[in-house]
Amino acid sequence: MSMSQDPCARPQLLHPDEAVPMLLQQIIPLYETETVPLSEALGRILAEDLCSSIELPPFNNSGMDGYAYRFADLPGKGTLTVIGKSFAGHPYHGEYRPGSCIRIMTGATVPEGYDTVQMQEYATVDGTQVTLEPCSEQWENVRLRGGEMAAGTKVLTSGTEIRAAEMGIIATLGISHLRAYRRARVAFFSTGDELRPIGSELAPGQIYDSNRYSIKALLMKAGVEWIDLGVIKDDPEAIRQAFREAAAKADMVLTSGGVSVGDADFTKQVLDEEGKITFWKLAMKPGKPFAMGKIGDAVFCGLPGNPVSSMVTFYKLVLPLLRKLQGHKPASTLQLQAVLTSAIRKKPGRVEFQRGILSQGSDGKLQVCTTGSQDSSQLSSMHLANCFIVLAQQQGNTQAGELVTVEPFNPVLC
Ligand code: AMP
Ligand code: MG
Repeated sequence: MSMSQDPCARPQLLHPDEAVPMLLQQIIPLYETETVPLSEALGRILAEDLCSSIELPPFNNSGMDGYAYRFADLPGKGTLTVIGKSFAGHPYHGEYRPGSCIRIMTGATVPEGYDTVQMQEYATVDGTQVTLEPCSEQWENVRLRGGEMAAGTKVLTSGTEIRAAEMGIIATLGISHLRAYRRARVAFFSTGDELRPIGSELAPGQIYDSNRYSIKALLMKAGVEWIDLGVIKDDPEAIRQAFREAAAKADMVLTSGGVSVGDADFTKQVLDEEGKITFWKLAMKPGKPFAMGKIGDAVFCGLPGNPVSSMVTFYKLVLPLLRKLQGHKPASTLQLQAVLTSAIRKKPGRVEFQRGILSQGSDGKLQVCTTGSQDSSQLSSMHLANCFIVLAQQQGNTQAGELVTVEPFNPVLC
């Protein structure tokens, strides 16, 4: 089917800023949740608010190694008698005595009756006698019970991604299991008669299927369950079977290749027959051809075959959909301004996501250069890059010294 017969064809290219909200509208988040042990929760999305059932810290404890004493006992420099010790996990069980102090270590309980900790650096020890410089205020170097949070405090909200810090916060609260959204299942296959699996010999005209590896890596980093359906030939029946299998197993079917208007581009044809297609042409480079639709209950996204285009369209278009599907809170993209250090050639017409290397110049200002060739078949541009240089749709050539917008890669791409 030619593009002119396509009912979804648009006379004008669609700007990605306009496209992403339209794509997102078609995504209904997965509502199924499951109980996950904390030890397996990294990368999962919380499906409940987590509240603290305990005070943090649970007891007054020392922030320093030193001596716990009663502030009122030491109006100026003076000598106190050490009558016990409180080490982390081994509290002092005796009573407070006027004129006394307790040898104390960081994290150890500050015993009842004592309210201040002086650092050992300000102490002179002579047997059981310790001469201390006084602290300037009561409760100095004491972490007060409940000082970080009261019992019942809402600590993490539903939709939060569990990263390293959240793992620690949840463990601090003593929570061993939590409710998380189930992971999205994404079935992926590459299309193309020229593609050979790695480990096999290449005949003339053949190349290795690299997209399955880069896209699989992105899917893994996005925290989804992936189903690898291999390489599918440019054959309508093979593609049809692959789509049916994928849609039966997955929440999202992702393909690479076969979405431009080439002779062998059967993906669109089959999808027109088996499901629904939303739109095709985007005002972005790389990644003009992109397909989205529905097959059975699964969302379908068709990435262009060129390796850089497939990675960029995954990152800019598919990742927001997966995040919504998996229950993430919406996140904004960090954009910065940097000084361009070498000229960029560009024709007006499409937003370009050129691959860039962002660094700090000797003057402290952010500077950026491209990675060299921006050919969408050359993955080296992604390999060398740590950011996109975002060039607006109507922008033309840009000279060295001008300010440009950059988007540092987030952890999915790094
Ligand atoms: P297509 O989108 O199918 O027209 O492919 C565009 C370009 O990307 C062609 O040069 C293909 O050979 C190449 N290509 C398609 N799929 C892959 C893949 N899985 N791995 C590497 N290159 C690919
Ligand atoms: Mg192809």
